[in-house]
Amino acid sequence: MLNKTKIGTEEWAEKLVESLGKIQENNDGFPCPRCGHKMRSHIVTNALSRRANVYICNNCGHDEAMLDLRGEDPWPFIRWSLPLSFLVK
Ligand SMILES: [Zn+2]
Repeated sequence: MLNKTKIGTEEWAEKLVESLGKIQENNDGFPCPRCGHKMRSHIVTNALSRRANVYICNNCGHDEAMLDLRGEDPWPFIRWSLPLSFLVK
């Protein structure tokens, strides 16, 4: 799935973020895929993203809600910490 998508594109970033959502269900300890900061160790006590089926830290959950509230665009997935961490290497 991922390897058919060009690395560095928004589509690739979204798939990467979505793929983490499935892993998160059974594994604690991942940093927030949106900002890269530490998340609560019990995954379900973090915020569920409004953009993807993935848990994000509560600060990011609040930020997404505020962007929605103000009618502003959400962060593109390519700006999220997880895709960026692949691109800077
Ligand atoms: Zn975050």
